[in-house]
Amino acid sequence: MPSLQSVISCQSDYDPTALPVTQANAIIADVIEPVRGIEQLPIRSALSRVLANDVISSIDVPAHDNSAMDGYAFAGAMLNQGDGDVVLEVSGTAYAGNAFDGEAKAGQAVRIMTGAVMPAGCDTVIPQEFVEIQAGGNQVRFRPDAVRAGDNRRRQGEDLARGQAALRAGRILTPADLGLMASLGVVEVKVRRRLRVAFFSTGDELRSIGETLDPGCVYDSNRYTLHGMLQRLNVELIDMGVVRDDPEIMEAAFRTACEVADAVITSGGVSVGDADYTKQIMARLGDVSFWKIAMRPGRPMAFGRIASGGHEAVLFGLPGNPVAVMVTFYNFVRGALHRLMGADVAPLPRIRVRSATPIRKRPGRTEYQRGIVAPGPDGELEVRVTGEQGSGVLRSMSEANGFIVLDHDQTSVAAGDLVSVMLFDGLV
Ligand code: AMP
Ligand code: MG
Repeated sequence: MPSLQSVISCQSDYDPTALPVTQANAIIADVIEPVRGIEQLPIRSALSRVLANDVISSIDVPAHDNSAMDGYAFAGAMLNQGDGDVVLEVSGTAYAGNAFDGEAKAGQAVRIMTGAVMPAGCDTVIPQEFVEIQAGGNQVRFRPDAVRAGDNRRRQGEDLARGQAALRAGRILTPADLGLMASLGVVEVKVRRRLRVAFFSTGDELRSIGETLDPGCVYDSNRYTLHGMLQRLNVELIDMGVVRDDPEIMEAAFRTACEVADAVITSGGVSVGDADYTKQIMARLGDVSFWKIAMRPGRPMAFGRIASGGHEAVLFGLPGNPVAVMVTFYNFVRGALHRLMGADVAPLPRIRVRSATPIRKRPGRTEYQRGIVAPGPDGELEVRVTGEQGSGVLRSMSEANGFIVLDHDQTSVAAGDLVSVMLFDGLV
């Protein structure tokens, strides 16, 4: 992996005290390279894993031309016999999984079920609801304009031709992908090994749940939010608890984390002017930059690589404020971990909806307001800012169903203006 300092030196307008979100992400992307380990799994065990190679289809899907409807198969040329009704003799039946092995000749049709192989001589299917059955089922009659030649036939290889990539390396496998692989007869698949991510909270004021809350203390919530967010990324979690602000204990925690994990995530202690040992130890153990990101919430963040005992790990030192942890996680850490696990990296999808209220915004930083997207009085979706937007107000995250993202250069929003929203569904 290239060093952070060398990546930063290529950035012409690098200002660590007001780093735009996009620039921070560009630096992170340049520094991170995917883990190399690969394992082979039965497809059922591969859900949410990252595909290591393209999955190439060894068969045509569908394997034969087949019917898309229940009806009657015949040669489309029979439609050009004049204006009168088409009358065809029914010469047999084709079932899905049990083909008609004869051939339909001119003037003949074959009763056919959905999915059945198209009989020889047939290229068109008339759905059964368009035909009149005559002669005790031995004849069908229909209007020549009820179908066009070639209708209701699925072509061999139409979904996927043999030799084509059904799925590309880097894809995070979905339930649909498991089904797709099964439809190709794929039994096992190569995926990247799971990432190991160690995380801990720093701050002497923090108490873990189950402990007594001494005066002036708060419960550590970041570790639980991180646990949930990381679990959604399907990584191996190494929860190291709350680490006291004692230089020896802190350094030992960073070293252990670095030796067992691919990535280390901490929260707290990275603010400018923070008296904690966190920053000093991060800097001592590696190639780490301390940024103030031009965003709200979530300004301070440390990023880099630390090393101990011959092991290296990517480091994210997130701010302490609970909302800032989530905002920085979704905007930096999520993409970075995807990159590290060898997955395709795509920005989180956004929708554009009307803002129900005005929102004040200063250009020169990206703001992430917590919002609730719901139908407005006219039934169209609109978004409303949740109450108190302080970066410590975790309830605002819990109530919201999306971030209203006000980009770097954007100014204040008037009621009724369109704004971008990153929906939490499946995310937070
Ligand atoms: P810091 O970034 O360490 O200055 O912390 C900023 C604020 O976030 C302080 O009010 C901390 O008490 C709070 N905080 C830091 N870490 C946590 C945590 N793990 N859980 C809840 N609050 C935290
Ligand atoms: Mg602190």
